[in-house]
Amino acid sequence: MPSDPRTSLLRATHRLALLLPFLALSAFTLWTALGSTREGPRGARAAEPGGWERVERHVAVMGTWLRISLEAPTRAEGLAACERALRAIEEAESRLSTWRDDSELARLNAAPVDEPVELSPLLRTELERARAWSRETSGAFEPALAPLVAAWSLRTGGDQPSATEFESARDACGLRCWAFEPSVVRRLHERAGFEEGAFGKGASLDAALAALDELSWRALSIDLGGQLLEARHAGPVRRLVAHPDDRAMPVLALRVPDGSLATSGDSERGVFVDGEARSHVLDPRTASPAPRRGSVTVWARTALAADCLSTACYVLGPDAALAFAEAHAGVELVWLQDGPRGLVARCSSGLAEHCEALPSSAAPEIHVSTHRDTSPLPPKSEPIAPR
Ligand code: ADP
Ligand code: MG
Repeated sequence: MPSDPRTSLLRATHRLALLLPFLALSAFTLWTALGSTREGPRGARAAEPGGWERVERHVAVMGTWLRISLEAPTRAEGLAACERALRAIEEAESRLSTWRDDSELARLNAAPVDEPVELSPLLRTELERARAWSRETSGAFEPALAPLVAAWSLRTGGDQPSATEFESARDACGLRCWAFEPSVVRRLHERAGFEEGAFGKGASLDAALAALDELSWRALSIDLGGQLLEARHAGPVRRLVAHPDDRAMPVLALRVPDGSLATSGDSERGVFVDGEARSHVLDPRTASPAPRRGSVTVWARTALAADCLSTACYVLGPDAALAFAEAHAGVELVWLQDGPRGLVARCSSGLAEHCEALPSSAAPEIHVSTHRDTSPLPPKSEPIAPR
């Protein structure tokens, strides 16, 4: 039976809405060519000196793209490692995605108030790590934000909530609406819900890395919808960061050690409220979209940390975000924003020697943070040295 064109259109629009957040991420942190051939899901290979082979896989997953590239002693071992990373990411999606009703997190979000819910050890750990970053950022990163994401219609292009909707969503938001007991979690408010938008990709990347632990491989790069994970490289890797308003235009190169790069920004994200472009990042202090102000790319040792912190730093704004990076060992960032004379990149002091403007008409002026000298926060003890 031919389908109703309106239904098809709705479905197509819905699908597009699902994909937009991920597509929009695309060029924020650009995949740098790793010098080998590329091919589709079946993988590619290239001989490396010393007999190791580079293997790559590009697949669609979690409503976005996934690119895995690594070196292994043999092609078979490389393909097996890629397969294992892919499986771990698919499992993370079925644990964390609230775009579907059957994930473990979606089921937790639907649990009756006060009912004790025993979580899988992995989800429990992921939520504990997200809670820890929420505390560390004084709530700028807030994983229990689902009611506000719904109230502002962030998943469907944005809409101004009514005063009643706004207040009721605000009441149901925040980790105070959840009780974490030693072996169970309880939902304390009938509308409380976790939102994985700012930690799901990071958690998935960390899960992929953990799944590879005992296998033989090196020089791993994974790009999951724009967030990068790097591991077991011989030295720092060079990765590109795009203009905040033009994701196809790389303007900066960063040299970073093993860890993860995540970007939060607001361009091309398609969130409009009363015809005005708004950020898809919410400031939990005001329960409203954060001001639009360029983009921030965060490097951290784990992908979950980089993911949570790019969002938190965007909420905090450039000054407080740079102070945060200076006060936290193993966290570096670069903030890209328009200034009176063009684009300005403000980077934390650990990136001073590792951040290079690319030659183009939009090449940013680079400013290195001096917060280390002036911040009332304790100075960091561990600058990023290439490992
Ligand atoms: P992207 O989705 O482009 O990777 P982010 O990592 O910054 O960008 O995540 C933004 C998403 O996180 C939003 O779409 C929303 O789902 C959720 N979110 C928005 N504001 C916050 C916040 N302050 N804390 C935690 N999650 C947030
Ligand atoms: Mg994030």
